[in-house]
Amino acid sequence: MNNNKNIDFDAIVVGSGFAGLALIHYLRDAGLSVKVFDKAADIGGTWTWNRYPGAMTDSEGYYYCLTFSKELLQKWTWSKRYPAWDETHRYMHFVADECDMWPHIQLNTEVTSAEYQKDSGTWLVTTADGKQATCKYFISAMGMISDPVIPKYKGLDSFKGPLFHSARWPEGLEYEGKRIGIIGSGATTVQMLPVIAQKAASVTVFQRTPNFILPAMQKEMTPEWEKDIKDNYDEIIAKCRNHVFGMAFESSVGRNAVDTPAAERQKIFEDNWNGSFRWVFETFDDLLGNADSNRMASEFIINKMKERIDDPEIAKILCPELGEYPLFAKRPPLDHGYLEAYSRDNVNLVDIRNHEPIVEITETGIRTTENEFEFDIIILATGFRAYTGSLEALTIRGESGQTLAEKWDKTSKSIMGVCVADFPNMFTITGPQAPFANLPTSIEQNAMWITDCIKKMKSEGHAICTPKQEAEDEWSAHVADVHSQTLMNEGDQVNSWMMGANIENHEPRVLIYFGGAGVYYDKLRESVDTGFPELTFDSQPQ
Ligand code: NAP
Repeated sequence: MNNNKNIDFDAIVVGSGFAGLALIHYLRDAGLSVKVFDKAADIGGTWTWNRYPGAMTDSEGYYYCLTFSKELLQKWTWSKRYPAWDETHRYMHFVADECDMWPHIQLNTEVTSAEYQKDSGTWLVTTADGKQATCKYFISAMGMISDPVIPKYKGLDSFKGPLFHSARWPEGLEYEGKRIGIIGSGATTVQMLPVIAQKAASVTVFQRTPNFILPAMQKEMTPEWEKDIKDNYDEIIAKCRNHVFGMAFESSVGRNAVDTPAAERQKIFEDNWNGSFRWVFETFDDLLGNADSNRMASEFIINKMKERIDDPEIAKILCPELGEYPLFAKRPPLDHGYLEAYSRDNVNLVDIRNHEPIVEITETGIRTTENEFEFDIIILATGFRAYTGSLEALTIRGESGQTLAEKWDKTSKSIMGVCVADFPNMFTITGPQAPFANLPTSIEQNAMWITDCIKKMKSEGHAICTPKQEAEDEWSAHVADVHSQTLMNEGDQVNSWMMGANIENHEPRVLIYFGGAGVYYDKLRESVDTGFPELTFDSQPQ
């Protein structure tokens, strides 16, 4: 039951991925009526949309999950170190089933607009079927990497075969024996290529910027490993809560690459080459903070990549040049046989940055400055408009009448990624200027902050919370200051989505707080403990 008979729900949430499920749990626990709308036909968010062959988590599954129920953590068993998309999707159904979440979820319902109603201090939400619903709190759980980027190539509509974004893989697509072209070589292609190359007649990857590629080193779950995980979940959760990227890694190993003698450093790099992003965080503490250390790590990775690529000409294209850009200025992919896939006779690589740019898409394939390639299927693995894209795609109108898209035209400011000035009673899970971290960890921390804020409003009789402009300016200035001191600041030179630099005709900007997820979670807690100084509270609409 909602607490106010003049509105349909206390909270309307958009998106039924991890964030939507977490919000159902926390808000329902606080006694709110919650409705989650999702345009997809199933829950899962990322794990419903990204069904391309090979899709799987890059975080290890045992901490890429929701932690609000110790019972669920004990009950669920992951089959592998990195579960495939369908296993994660099954896990999300398990959570929804076990926690009786389905009555809160309405699928096949696309929210098109949400408009703040100044007179009543409520939100009016409109869906694509023309229906409307009102709520006190409007919350985005749409995910920070969910709005696909479609490149603007001439002739894109003229291709006669299937042509689609990687996050829109057509159900039941037969690709066995087909000639496939993939535009883009980021984390998605790195997962997809080795799998589709096994069945396709040929796969041709069109690469622009080379990536630092780290090995995933998949492992099956064993009973001993599972027992160890389940016996130590409190410690695992605490590790995630304190880690700079929200991962269950050691927060500090107490040594810097730059201070370590070369032979010892090499040995530490080598001994820890066991897969996952662990290597970046559990070898030395300064790989992302110190340019010299970052270069040492980059060199090690490039050499490791070269060892696995048979053809030196292919290696030249696939590996970044040392010093070209810092490790992590672009998010490095994790690979499961991507580099080896280029040794197959049916896999080709086209360097569209330095050798033959794409000119157009034709009826039968892709034409570059040098060649005409014929394909049966073209996949656009061209990434996402991160952090802001899904929010800007809706008409979200705040108190002044300005939309979020208008507000974020030149910069994308927020308060800690959870709320935005001029948008009262609206919250975002992992909005712009939140950290980039293991997402379930950040999602739960955000959901707890939002719930604590609403609990305070309920207990103190407030109807409206308004994010303060000065708090937004202050947070954004801090985020920009921290960003300017990191190596990730060079991401705009290499089209990094982490700075929105992958979007054509769009000014790169600071989208991520790089002060450390653990530090950020502390700041959220401090905000709760000090009564949410970033917000003003009113008992009735002004
Ligand atoms: P991405 O990393 O942004 O890569 C997009 C690729 O498309 C890049 O190679 C880019 O080249 C290329 N591209 C973009 N526009 C192009 C154009 N007009 N012409 C030619 N090439 C173009 O996208 P993604 O691979 O989908 O991955 C995005 C993020 O999603 C990842 O970084 C990761 O955070 C997340 N993700 C996670 C997982 C996981 O955890 N399991 C899996 C997949 C993705 P440039 O580099 O030159 O711009």
